[in-house]
Amino acid sequence: MKNKKDKITFKRAYAANMRAMKLMYSLYPQMVSSSISLAVWNSLTPYIGIYLSALIVEELSGGRDTDRLIKLVLVTLAVSVAISLVTVFLNRWKNTQHSGDRWIKFEHIISQKMLNTDYANLADTKTSEMLSTIRQNNNGGGWGLNMVLYNAEAMLSSLFTIAGGLSLTVSLFLTRVPDGAGSLSLLDNPFVVIGVIALMLAITLVAPMITNKAEGYLARHSGDHNLGNRLFGHFGFLGYNTDISEDVRIYRQDIISEGYNRDKKSTFSSDGVFAHLARGPMGLLAAAGAAVSVIFTGIVYMFVCLKSMAGAFGLGSVTQYIASVTKLSGGISSLVVELGRMFNNTPFLELIYEFLDIPDNMYKGSLTVEKRRDRSYQVEFKNVSFKYPGSNTYALKNVSMKFEIGKRLAVVGMNGSGKTTFIMLLCRLYDPTEGEILLNGIDIRKYNYREYMDIFSVVFQDFKLLPQRLGENVAGRVSYDRELATDCLEKAGFGDRLEKLKDGIDTYLYKDSSKDGVNISGGEAQKIAIARALYKDAPFIILDEPTAALDPIAEAEIYSKFDEIVGDKTAIYISHRLSSCKFCDEILVFDQGSVIQQGTHSELVSNTTGKYHELWNAQAQYYTEQ
Ligand code: ADP
Repeated sequence: MKNKKDKITFKRAYAANMRAMKLMYSLYPQMVSSSISLAVWNSLTPYIGIYLSALIVEELSGGRDTDRLIKLVLVTLAVSVAISLVTVFLNRWKNTQHSGDRWIKFEHIISQKMLNTDYANLADTKTSEMLSTIRQNNNGGGWGLNMVLYNAEAMLSSLFTIAGGLSLTVSLFLTRVPDGAGSLSLLDNPFVVIGVIALMLAITLVAPMITNKAEGYLARHSGDHNLGNRLFGHFGFLGYNTDISEDVRIYRQDIISEGYNRDKKSTFSSDGVFAHLARGPMGLLAAAGAAVSVIFTGIVYMFVCLKSMAGAFGLGSVTQYIASVTKLSGGISSLVVELGRMFNNTPFLELIYEFLDIPDNMYKGSLTVEKRRDRSYQVEFKNVSFKYPGSNTYALKNVSMKFEIGKRLAVVGMNGSGKTTFIMLLCRLYDPTEGEILLNGIDIRKYNYREYMDIFSVVFQDFKLLPQRLGENVAGRVSYDRELATDCLEKAGFGDRLEKLKDGIDTYLYKDSSKDGVNISGGEAQKIAIARALYKDAPFIILDEPTAALDPIAEAEIYSKFDEIVGDKTAIYISHRLSSCKFCDEILVFDQGSVIQQGTHSELVSNTTGKYHELWNAQAQYYTEQ
C-alpha cells in the first residue's frame, strides 16, 4: 500500500475516489444515480430563474410592454412549477434510495468482507487494528467511503454551477460600453477586462485554497481525533457500563474517569490540541478564507455597476450578472474545496481498500460432501503441524490420528496443549501449516467449503448467544421448526427453565432488543448453546469444555443424558474433567501440541508411566474420596 505520507497526486486521488464510486454503484446503483441527478438538477435550475427574472426586470425598466410582461410572468410561473415538481420527484427518489442511511450501507460493505474472508484474516490482530481505525476515521471526521458520495455530489454540482454561471456571465465581458462614455470607456480596454477576470479568478481560487489548508489540519490530526474519541468512549461512558459497575465502585474507578472528564488538556477540551489549532493557524486560515470572499463580492458589484452606469446594459442585466457571477464564483470555490477534500480523503480510502483487498489464501475446492444416511465418515490427521499466523512456535506438531464416525472421542490434556487448535483445524477455520486432514480419504481442502462446515456443530468455549428470541438463537434463523427447537432445549437440560419463561421460546435473551428480555446464567447459556448445536443436526458434534459453566448437578445431568443428546452423531468432547472421559470410546491425550497417547480409558489408565495416568491421578484425589 502507498505510504500515507507519500505525496497525493491527482491520479492517486482520482483512482481512490473512482473505485469507491464504482463499488457503491455496483451495490447501490439507485442510491448513486438519485444523488447525482438531484445534485445536477439543483445546480442548473437556479439559472433558469435568474435568466427569466432578468428579462422581467429589463422589460419593467425598458419597454414596459404589458402583453410581453404578462407572457414573461406566466412563463416564469409555469417554469417554476415544473421545476418544483421535478425537484420534489428527485428528492423523493433520493430519500427512498437513501432510506436505511448511507452509513448502514457502508457498514454493510465492511461487514460483507468480514463475513466472507478467511477466518485466519479475522483472527489477525493487524486486521482488527485496521478495522478499528477505519471505523474511527468514519465516526470521527466522516473520512472514508461515506465522504465520497457527498464529495462527488458537491463536485458535480459545482461543475454544473460553473457551466450555468459561465453561460450567463460571458456577455458581461463582451457587451461594449457605448461611445461617448468618457473615462468609463476604459472598461472595454482588453487589459482592464483581462485584469478584472484574473483578479476575480485569483480571489475565487485563493479563498478555498485557504479553507482547504485549514481543513488539512483536521485530516493530519485524525490520529489525535481518533485517540480522543477512544478515550472519550471509554472514560466518558464509564458510568454507563454496567458490566464493570462492581469494580468501578469497589476500586473507586470513578476518580480516574472524573480526572479525565475534567482535564482541560484532553483532546477536545479548551486547552486540547483542537482548541489550540482553532485559536492558532486553523482558525486564522478559516477567517482569512471568509474575508477574501467578501472582497470578491465588492469587485463584482463595482465592475457590473460601472459598466451599467456607462450604458452597456440595463437594470435587468445588472441583477442577472451579479447573481450569475456570484454563483459562478461560488461554484469555482466549492469545486476547489471539494477537490481538496477528495485529496484529503484519499489515504483514508486507501486504508479501506487495504482492508477490502486482504487476500483469501485458503484453497476452497468444489467437491460435494457426501450426505451419508449412515453418517459413516472417517477422519484422519496425517502429520499435521500448525503455527498460528504471526507466531513462530508450533501450536500443533506432527499430529497423526484416525477416528471412525459414530464414536465418542475425548480430547484431554493440560491447558495450552493444543486441544482447541485441533478442533479449529478439523472444522477448517484454519488450514494446517504442514500435513493434511482427510475426510473419507480425501483432503478436506478439496471439498466445497460451506458444505464441509455444514457437517460440524460446535459449542466453543467462548460461544456467544444473540440478543434475539430464544428459539431464533437455537435455530439460527427467524423462521424455524418450533417443536424441534423446544425438543433440543429439553434434551440440553433447559426444559425446566423453559417452562418458567412467560413467552416460552419467543422470550428475548438479554435486554438489548427488548425490555422484556431475560438475563440468563452462564450455565443456562451453555445449555442453550448445546441446544443450538443439536438443532443444526450435523453428523459431528463437538463440545469444548461443555460443562465448564454448569453446576455439579447440571453437569451430572448432561453426562447421564449424553448418549441421548448425541444420538448417532460423532461426538468430540474436550474436557478438563477426566471423569467425563469414561463415557467415551476413545481418548486422545495432547501434550505440548502433540498427541502422545490414544486409546480407551482402561487402556490408558493402566499405563502407569503415561501422561493420562498422571492426569487421572492428579484429579482422582478430588473424586475418589467422594
Ligand atoms: P488448549 O485448548 O489445549 O488449552 P490451545 O489449542 O488453545 O490449547 O492452544 C495451543 C497453543 O497455541 C498454546 O500455546 C496457545 O498459547 C497457542 N495459541 C492459541 N491460540 C492462539 C492464537 N490465536 N495465536 C497464537 N497462538 C495461539
